[in-house]
Amino acid sequence: MSSFKTLDDIGDVTGKRVLVRVDLNVPMSDGAVADDTRIRAAMPTIRELSDKGAIVLLLAHFGRPKGAKNPTQSLSLVIDGVADVLGHSVMFIPDCIGEGAQAGVAVLAPGDVAVLENTRFHAGEEKNDPAFADALAEIGDLYVNNAFSAAHRAHGSTEGIAHRLPAYAGRAMEAELKALDAALGNPAHPVAAVVGGAKVSSKIDVLKNLVGQVDHLIIGGGMANTFLAARGVDVGKSLCEHDLVDTANAIFDAADKAGCTIHLPYDVVVAKQFAPNPPTRTVNVHEVAADEMILDVGPAAVEALADVLKNCRTLVWNGPLGAFETPPFDTATVALAKTAAALTREGSLISVAGGGDTVAALNHAGVAQDFTFVSTAGGAFLEWMEGKPLPGVDALKA
Ligand code: ADP
Ligand code: MG
Repeated sequence: MSSFKTLDDIGDVTGKRVLVRVDLNVPMSDGAVADDTRIRAAMPTIRELSDKGAIVLLLAHFGRPKGAKNPTQSLSLVIDGVADVLGHSVMFIPDCIGEGAQAGVAVLAPGDVAVLENTRFHAGEEKNDPAFADALAEIGDLYVNNAFSAAHRAHGSTEGIAHRLPAYAGRAMEAELKALDAALGNPAHPVAAVVGGAKVSSKIDVLKNLVGQVDHLIIGGGMANTFLAARGVDVGKSLCEHDLVDTANAIFDAADKAGCTIHLPYDVVVAKQFAPNPPTRTVNVHEVAADEMILDVGPAAVEALADVLKNCRTLVWNGPLGAFETPPFDTATVALAKTAAALTREGSLISVAGGGDTVAALNHAGVAQDFTFVSTAGGAFLEWMEGKPLPGVDALKA
């Protein structure tokens, strides 16, 4: 892993103004924070800096105000949520740059924590305007990026500022980068990837990148139907992107050349209606009837996939194997997730997973805490799986 500095390298921060980019883009309901997971994720970094006597200035975006002030997207709305998790009061500063910000910061004492107003109230944030980044850098002495979830965007508060102040990874960012490095950067082989979910079209770049990186590519979910169709299987009424059969064939070819084994289900669970607990059949993929839909991977395939994982040292997982929100089509996802969790607990597998529905599926299976690392970063996690550079991370390494 090319190196970046962490809080271990930051030195004496007493009385220093530390700008900490965090993810405060929390879901709200009735004017209050509805889910404080992201706030809690930022806490170790905030506490550590505050305890060391820094003046902690939290920088974040909130919603999509598109460069204009909008009271419904003011970060003042999350102050109480941040204070609740921190256990003491938090100041609010009504701008993140300029005189308003300077005046607010000037009255803070070592150890204080303040939230600066939504960075996206300024058009320069999303444009990564140098003048905006300069103005941000004037507010602080040091910069800490703790928001991996925003690192796929080259914005003023994620990228521009990192070139203007001494820049460090916060604890959550550090943990995420270490986990991702262990999964794909510098992994122990054999490496397996599970890619599922609804559509090939949303994950073409993920699949193309992974065939060159992993030893086993396990394809499940609705997207497996497109690959089965490319192999000449009649998938009946299943979700299937017939126009992507050429893309699927190109991925088969790339995998062959790279020595990556692609695993498709050979038995599947089918139903005529997509509804909770309909009549189902478990059949070989060649026995799907014209009026049936494939909604989950079958038990024989799951057993074979469990054997693949038993022989692997590393697993990276994005996308459920079936339509897991609708019982009983959660069965394969839950079973394989439990296998991965057990192998991780035994110490034979490093398991890293991410993706909105994937996190929900692992929580549903009750195994998220047993995985080595579960990323809640969404878009940034997918771009990382696509092998794309992450500007917010690269700026920390510069
Ligand atoms: P993530 O959010 O983890 O990246 P995706 O959004 O790509 O995952 O995929 C999740 C969706 O895929 C779920 O809503 C799930 O119901 C759907 N899905 C999985 N398998 C099938 C299938 N066989 N047919 C239809 N939908 C499926
Ligand atoms: Mg999703």
